[in-house]
Order: sequence, then structure tokens, then C-alpha cells
Amino acid sequence: MSTPEVPPVRLRPEIVAMVPYRQGKAASADAYKLSSNENPFDPLPGVLEAIAGATAINRYPDATALALRTALAERYGVTPDGIQVGSGSVAVLTQLVTAAAGPGDEVVFSWRSFEAYPGIVAVAGATPVAVPNRADHGHDLPAMAAAVTERTRALIVCTPNNPTGAIVTVAEFHAFMASVPRDILVILDEAYIEFVGDPDAVRGPELLAQYPNLVVLRTFSKAYGLAGLRVGYAIGPVAILDAARSSAIPLSVTAQAETGALASLEHEEQLLERVVAIAERRHEIWNQLIAQGWSAPEPHGNFLWLPTGEATDAAAAAFHEAGLVVRPFHPDGIRISVGEPESVEKLLRVSAEIVGKLPNGHPGRRVA
Ligand SMILES: *Cc1c(COP(=O)(O)O)cnc(C)c1O
Repeated sequence: MSTPEVPPVRLRPEIVAMVPYRQGKAASADAYKLSSNENPFDPLPGVLEAIAGATAINRYPDATALALRTALAERYGVTPDGIQVGSGSVAVLTQLVTAAAGPGDEVVFSWRSFEAYPGIVAVAGATPVAVPNRADHGHDLPAMAAAVTERTRALIVCTPNNPTGAIVTVAEFHAFMASVPRDILVILDEAYIEFVGDPDAVRGPELLAQYPNLVVLRTFSKAYGLAGLRVGYAIGPVAILDAARSSAIPLSVTAQAETGALASLEHEEQLLERVVAIAERRHEIWNQLIAQGWSAPEPHGNFLWLPTGEATDAAAAAFHEAGLVVRPFHPDGIRISVGEPESVEKLLRVSAEIVGKLPNGHPGRRVA
């Protein structure tokens, strides 16, 4: 890495202080890329044809992505204005945070959670407030509610939580909403909701009628396997989504992304098959990890979490050496996406070696 340079012009100090985004390591040709929670399956039928048919690239796309918003609105029983689409749900999240919070304001989220949260808040000019996860790697919702001050403008809840995989239950979420003032925006990030099988898990769209300060984020990047197209959306109160629309970079959802997403929505059955296959593979891996002696939280997304602590960088190096590109978050743990079936055996061979070397009393090791 090069030493950080002092910029030749005056920039916002809080931006200069940020570590620029560097993508997870590129996988070598024969390595498995398990570092970005991507879907290992090919696109759903009809998607490539739909994209290939969107050839009028000399024209701007429909700025409001009305066709996609209408299809999603039907699915959720809302009006098209009750949906906001963006180039990834990260873009919609950025719009919402920018609309709600500026300098002097605070945005509360759990930590460790999605690595984009602190940066999005800082770029909006607001102050990130990170509330530590519980010991079981789930959100500490009572502590998040207690972190609300008169400066708080938004709270972000991520379920299943990236990278720990923990879910928020319906009961926990209701109690949380009851303790958050109604004039503070709550963003429920459900990027991995399709992989959730637990009936106690919260599902945001069902609760929108009950909470006028709630917005739910969903994406085509994970279960639908369209990470490269960049399309995600929010469902929520029209007045809040109007503010997000006003904060958006115009025309950022391409016609290819819109038609690809529309085509994906038509193949629910195949989608479900793939999601089930990934969820089953995830649980096979988790059961094996537990049998190996790991203390790892039950996974609910398309990824697993190994609490490797101070051993994180060394453990990630061992995975990389074996041809598995994983995502280390030193000194907390390693996130491993559920990938191709052929990657599983390698993964379990390396994980067994790593857990065998963890000292007694290490948080990643199950007490026998
Ligand atoms: C992947 C992910 C997203 C969505 O990413 P986009 O590709 O921008 O839709 C949002 N939230 C979390 C927690 C994620 O892991």
C-alpha cells in the first residue's frame, strides 16, 4: 500500500480521514471467490435475453424506473410511489441517510455490521454512532434505542446481519419500534431476507402499515444474483421515499438493470430452488463447523461467520493459500459466502486446521 498523500486542495477532513473502498481480493483463475456474498448460480432464465434486448443505449433510461416500481408495487400491495429503486440498495440507503441526516445529526447502527454504513453516514456529513453487537453477534436493539439522542435522525437495522448472519426477531423488532420516537427514520436492511427460513424472523413489508417511520431495503444483488447489474429498492411511506428521490443522483438505474430485474421477478420458482439449495449448503457447512469445534453463530444469510478475533488475518491467509478468497474483518472475524459445491470440501479442510490451532478460551472455540 502507498502512503496516504496530502491532497493538493482543501477537502472535507472527515472524508480525507476515511479509508478508500478497496474491493475484496480478486480471485485467481482457479480460486473460489467467497468474499462478496455473491450468488454462485447463473442468472435466472430470460434475464440475459432481456438485457441483450435493451439496446437503445444512446437513450437515457426511464428516470423513475416506473415499470419495475409498478411490478414491485403489485407484489407488496403498495402504490408505485411506495417503491424507490436505485443502483443497488446501497444507493437507496445513501439517498435515505442523506435525506434524513446532515452535519450535527447522528445515525445509529449496530457494529460489526455492513461495512458501508459508517462511510455513508460520514459522507452525508452526519455522525455515525456504532452500538456493539451482543455477545451472540446479534443486534443489541435495546442499546440502539438507548443510544438515541435529540440529534438522532435515523437508525439502521440489518437482518440477517452482514457479516455475522444473525437475525432480528419480530418480537425484538416490535419492542424496538415501541421505544424509538416516531419522528426518527428506521431503515430495515433486508438484503439477505430471501435466505431466511426462521419463522420468528422479522419481515419488514408486513409491518409498514403499523410504523409510519419505517422503510425496508431489498436488493436484486444477492438471492436474485444480479449484483453486477446494480439494482435494489426501498418500500416505505411515499413522503419519505419522495425525500430519497430528491436526494438521488438522477438516471442511475440503467434500462438493462431495470429489464433484468423485471425478468428475474418472473421466475420465482427457480429463484426459490436456488435459495433453498444455498440455504441447505449453508446449514451443512455450519453443522460441520460446529462439529469441528467452532463457536459460530447460526447463519441466516448466504454466508457464514467465523469469530477468529486476533487470529483473523492469519486465518484468512490460510484460506487464501488453499484457493478460497474470503473476507477478513480484523480483529473480529471472517465472513465466508456460500459458494459452489466444489468449494465446500476445501473450506472445511482449512477451517478444521484453523480451529485446531485456536488457543483454549478463544471466543471462536466452543467450550467442550
Ligand atoms: C449486499 C448488501 C446490500 C446491497 O447491495 P446492493 O448490491 O447495493 O443492492 C445492502 N445491505 C447489505 C447489508 C448488504 O450486505
